[in-house]
Amino acid sequence: MSDLDNKIFGSRISLAKRVVVKVGSALLVDAKSGHLNRAWLESLAADVARMKKRGQEVILVSSGAIALGRRHLALASGKLRLEESQAAAAVGQIRLAHAYKELLEGHELTVAQILLTLGDTEQRRRYLNARGTLNTLLSLGAVPVINENDTVATAEIRYGDNDRLAARVAQMLSADCLVLLSDIDGLYTANPNIDPKAQFVGRVLHVTPEIEAMAGGTGSDVGSGGMHTKLAAAKIAMGAGCYLCISKGAYQHPLQRIEDGVRCTWFVPASTPIAARKQWIAGTLAPAGSIGIDAGAVSALARGKSLLPAGVTRTVGRFDRGDTVSIKGPDGVEVARGMAAYSDDDVARIMGRKTAEIEQVLGFRGRDEIVHRDDLVLLNIVEE
Ligand code: GLU
Repeated sequence: MSDLDNKIFGSRISLAKRVVVKVGSALLVDAKSGHLNRAWLESLAADVARMKKRGQEVILVSSGAIALGRRHLALASGKLRLEESQAAAAVGQIRLAHAYKELLEGHELTVAQILLTLGDTEQRRRYLNARGTLNTLLSLGAVPVINENDTVATAEIRYGDNDRLAARVAQMLSADCLVLLSDIDGLYTANPNIDPKAQFVGRVLHVTPEIEAMAGGTGSDVGSGGMHTKLAAAKIAMGAGCYLCISKGAYQHPLQRIEDGVRCTWFVPASTPIAARKQWIAGTLAPAGSIGIDAGAVSALARGKSLLPAGVTRTVGRFDRGDTVSIKGPDGVEVARGMAAYSDDDVARIMGRKTAEIEQVLGFRGRDEIVHRDDLVLLNIVEE
């Protein structure tokens, strides 16, 4: 890969609207002293501030809670028992959040801490709630700092590594770019620490079984995730239309370095986040129910508008908020498919009404649209 090519790929970061950056424990916490690598974190904060100034949205997924907390509690080295890592996370997370707050506030940025469990990304209702909160924080200009909620997560309901958590966050937020800052500069054909013939792989278009074999059984870095969790993250991100970069983070200004064209591995998705999302909606085999709409609403959809309560005439079947529904015109032909923002019961109560009346009818203020434009694909009508 030439320097120019690395630079062109590096511009993926500066061009992205929404970037998720995963920061590994080994970068944040000094292995010998167990203290926070403050100077490094300061340089990362400066990179984030620069991106925010350019109008980009940045989400940090940060590890380090357990590593920080275990030293503070003077827990012995080696593998911790579950209760010990939960205790270490409780002590470490508060320190971690404090450091991010202090350093990012130095750049006049507001930090928001979000602790997620596996269920928050895997169960629809909780997923939608987490997505809603994160989107609100981003629209208010905050920088969310996310970690797994390790104090409550038990072995069975735990990610355990922040690579896949970061990928699920990127997917949830339709991010354009995910950066995994690691202690290795990318993917190799074999573990470069033990195999001198290992070759660097600069670009990956598909995570094939051959690529997976390169990751080997054990990790090539010292965090909880090895190369195999990074590849699992790459698959999730690519499926969501998100670029993913694995880069060595142990330098000052690690994000700036990628933009400047440092060598790293880029995983290239086949589509964009919106296209991937729409493809997923269109591909739902059995929509949970359907919503009938009038001719005016059909033409509004064709003009690129969202589906509002006023144009809805009926609902069929049972569906919940977040389910995929089929949207049918007055003649019963499916004109679109989309993700409903309300359950069938709620749609039945607000249909035909003005958006301003939603709160009065339902007793709470939900979304203005029954199906938002970004959650909708047209099927048998042509967009005007
Ligand atoms: N959530 C863990 C922590 O904060 C780290 C997981 C990982 O290393 O990926 O310590």
